[in-house]
Amino acid sequence: MDIEELLGFAKRAGFFWPAAEIYGGASGLFDYGHLGATLKRNFESAWLKYFVTSNGYHLIEGSNMLPEKPLIASGHASRFNDVVVGCSKCKTYYRADVLLNELNIKVSEGAKPEELEKAIRDNDVKCQKCGGALMQPKDFNLMIDVALGPENHERGYLRPETAQSAYLNFFREFNLLRKRLPMGLAIIGRAYRNEISPRQGLYRMRELAQAELQIFFDPENWEINDSGKLLERQVNIVPYSDHETRRISGNEIVEQLGIPRFYAYHMCMINRFYEEIMHMPADKLRFLELGGDEKAFYNKLHFDIQADISSWGGFKEIGGLHYRGEHDLSSHTKGSGQDMSVESNGKRIMPNVLELSFGVDRNIWMLIDLMYAKDGERAVLKVPYSIAPYNLAVLPLQKDDRIIEYALSLESELRGPFKVSYDESGSIGRRYARMDEAGTPLCITVDFDTVDENSDRFGTVTIRDRDTKAQRRVKRPELADAVTGALA
Ligand SMILES: [Zn+2]
Repeated sequence: MDIEELLGFAKRAGFFWPAAEIYGGASGLFDYGHLGATLKRNFESAWLKYFVTSNGYHLIEGSNMLPEKPLIASGHASRFNDVVVGCSKCKTYYRADVLLNELNIKVSEGAKPEELEKAIRDNDVKCQKCGGALMQPKDFNLMIDVALGPENHERGYLRPETAQSAYLNFFREFNLLRKRLPMGLAIIGRAYRNEISPRQGLYRMRELAQAELQIFFDPENWEINDSGKLLERQVNIVPYSDHETRRISGNEIVEQLGIPRFYAYHMCMINRFYEEIMHMPADKLRFLELGGDEKAFYNKLHFDIQADISSWGGFKEIGGLHYRGEHDLSSHTKGSGQDMSVESNGKRIMPNVLELSFGVDRNIWMLIDLMYAKDGERAVLKVPYSIAPYNLAVLPLQKDDRIIEYALSLESELRGPFKVSYDESGSIGRRYARMDEAGTPLCITVDFDTVDENSDRFGTVTIRDRDTKAQRRVKRPELADAVTGALA
C-alpha cells in the first residue's frame, strides 16, 4: 500500500482520519475512530505490561503543559529546532533538510541554517509550488507555547516529549520507591511539536502519542540478570562505523561492537517485543546507529528502532534506544537547584538514564502497513489476536426472529469478558469481510440449527477463525472457554 491507500483503508474501516474532517481536516492532527482507538490502547497495554510492569518498573502520568523553566533547563527552549525556509512569493514554508533530501541533495538531519543555505544556493533550489525564490533559512523552535492565566500571563509550553515529566519526578519517586537503582519511570501520553510540514499520515504529526520508559541507573553497578537468555537473540543492527547491516546476537553486539551489556540487553528486549508479541517478521526490524551531527550531543549511544514500512518507502524510525548519560538529571539539578545526585554503593553519583522511546502512532501505522494482507479476494488485517480491536463478532446467519433473539442474548453474555461486535446487516460474506478488515480474530454465527430443538446441532454455534477460515461447532456452555483458548 502507498500512503493514500493506507489512509483510505484507515478511514473506510474506522481506524483514523484527519481531525476536524468535516471542516476539511487539519495538517498533522488526527482522530482515532472506534477501531483505531482500541487498537492503540491495546498496543499501549501490551507495551506497558512487557516493558514496564514485567520489569518491576512504574507508570506515572505527567502534566501535558509545563512552565517555561524546566524546558529552558532541558535545552528545548533554545535547541529544539528545525530549519525553516519560506518562499518569498507564495509564502509556502518548508522544512529545509526535508526539502533538500526530497530533491536528492544530501544534508544531515541536524544541519545548521548556514549549511542548508549553502546547499540551497549551490543547487539553485526554488519553491516547489510556484518556482519563486527562497528566503534565508532560519531556526524554528518546534515547541508550542501556551499562555497560562489571564493578562500578565505566565508563559508555558505543551510538552515536546513525555520524557521530561519522568526527569522532573525522579527525585520524589526515588525517595518514594525506597531509594533503589535501577528505577524505571514510564509515561504513555501526548507530546506536541509545531512541525513545519506535517505529512505522510501518522509519521510527522503536531500532536503525537509516545510510550517512553526512562531507566535511572548507576553505570558502575547495573548487573543484568539474563536468566531468560535474551542476549542470545539475533538482532539486525547497523552500526554508525561502517553502515553495514548484520544479524548478530546480543552477546556478539557486546563482544564485536563494544556496546555495553545493559544496552545490548535492551536491544534484545525490544527485538523480542516486536517479533514475539507483535508478530513482526525478523527482517522487518533493525537498529540503526546515529552518530556525529545526527545524534543529540548528550546521547552516549543512540540507535533508532526502525521498521521496513512499504507505504513510507522503506526503513523508518518507530522508536529509539538512547543512552543519555547524566545529562537530564544534571541539567535539572542546575536549573531547579534541587540536587538529584544519590547514594549508590557508598558513592555519590548522578544517575544515568537509558531511554526506551516509542512513537505510538507510528507503531499503529506500521502494524496496519505490515499486517494488511490480500488473501485471494479477501483482505485481512492480521494483527496479533492479543491486540485486535474486537475479540469476536456475533453474526446471525439469517434474518429470523428466533436467530436474532438468540444472537442478541449471546452478544450480551459475551460482552462482559470480551470486546464484541454485533452485525446483522447484509450478506454473511460481506460481514465476514468487514470483520477480516477490522482484524477480528473470531466470528461466531448463529443459524437455524442453533435454535431448532429437533436438530442434533441445537444449542451449538459456529466459530470461524480469521486466519485459517476454519469453522467448528461449539456448544454454548463451552463457548466462553473455546473463545478464551482461541485468543490465547
Ligand atoms: Zn512559492
